[in-house]
Amino acid sequence: MLYNQPNPLEVKVLSRRFTLPNSQSIETYLANDGYKALEKALGMTQDQIIDEVKASGLRGRGGAGFPTGLKWSFVPRQSPKPKYIVVNADESEPGTCKDRLLIEYDPHQLIEGVIIAGQAVGAEQGYIYIRGEYRYLIDVMDRAIDEAYARGVLGDNVMGSGRKFHLASHSGAGAYECGEESALLESFEGKRGNPRIRPPFPAVAGCYQSPTILNNVETFCAVPAIFLNGGAYFAGLGSPKNGGTRLFCLSGHVNKPGVYELPMGFNLMRMINEVGGGVRGGKKLKAVIPGGSSCPVLKADECDIAMDYDSVAAAKSMLGSGGVVVMDEDTCMVNAALRIMKFYAHESCGWCIPCREGTTWLKKLLTRFHEGMGQRSDIVLIGDLSKNMLGRTFCPLGDAAAMPTIAFVEKFKDEFEAHLDGKPCPYEKSNRMVAA
Ligand code: SF4
Repeated sequence: MLYNQPNPLEVKVLSRRFTLPNSQSIETYLANDGYKALEKALGMTQDQIIDEVKASGLRGRGGAGFPTGLKWSFVPRQSPKPKYIVVNADESEPGTCKDRLLIEYDPHQLIEGVIIAGQAVGAEQGYIYIRGEYRYLIDVMDRAIDEAYARGVLGDNVMGSGRKFHLASHSGAGAYECGEESALLESFEGKRGNPRIRPPFPAVAGCYQSPTILNNVETFCAVPAIFLNGGAYFAGLGSPKNGGTRLFCLSGHVNKPGVYELPMGFNLMRMINEVGGGVRGGKKLKAVIPGGSSCPVLKADECDIAMDYDSVAAAKSMLGSGGVVVMDEDTCMVNAALRIMKFYAHESCGWCIPCREGTTWLKKLLTRFHEGMGQRSDIVLIGDLSKNMLGRTFCPLGDAAAMPTIAFVEKFKDEFEAHLDGKPCPYEKSNRMVAA
């Protein structure tokens, strides 16, 4: 699934340079509005920069959807400690693959957004934490950083402004858990990637216990467009309180899977039918995971919704990281739940018992069920076990494993019952989401 099938319904803001020849180079970037936003921001005060980001309605694209300008305003600018900007490029939510494209096709857009964030809070150093499996992207990023230093965009005198900003990439070691911001910081500092107890939050005590802005790749990449065209322009692209566009990763049983940039609030059914070309093979839609594997599944009749944070939350799921996984009528929902739980059981860091034991036992129960050896009481047990994990873990991984499982059991109880009494999986032959 790559950026290979542009669609006329797309609104290209962050991805507008993706198809230009040599799009990674600073020459291409400079010839296409590159670093003009930074030039503007360098002439603004810190408060003006933060106010512009607030006016844009930009919300964190990593999953939580927290308003970005508000988050930046929490950094205590009078603190005597150095401030840091950290980019979360640890993209690893199953179903999500857009941050890699933003780095691969337009790394200077990310650099520009990070430097502007630095100007907003008086930071002089930034780090890009890239997931270990994206090793090839570190080379792309490092080349772009070298180009930016050579052109005086990074360094001790950013674009002749007299201000400093330095930037370096850092490789993660391949743990989903390190996508959680405090675990990422622990890992970055060379420790085991366990989450920190919060508060304090990174804005106050983040990188090296200093004030830190930590956002994900897509969030920083949206910043140049805000300063180039104004916060009001960016806000107007999306829906109320959900400014801008979003890179949606459309995967699963659609005719045209891919990464598409669409306005926030774009209708999910239109996304499947008019952008994704409809359900593959003319099959009926059964369900959709709207924001990556940690988000509760929606049944087909719940999918006529706007894809923004508030509308998806009102449908009792989450917009998450933008990974839209489409499942057709032949998909076994017990197997889909099992496949997801295998991932979380593998990725649990083991620090807290509800997550470590909960994911392990849920994996065992779902495996037993899928193999036709489940008992009716197991249906209740799977739901209870999941509910007992909710809100009882140090980091969101426990919730991320529990929430989709609760939705699968509650919404597709009939499919769980169809696996009882030693019956074989009714979807075995045609199932294309087979557990690995
Ligand atoms: Fe580790 Fe899971 Fe606890 Fe997070 S919830 S700290 S991944 S055991």
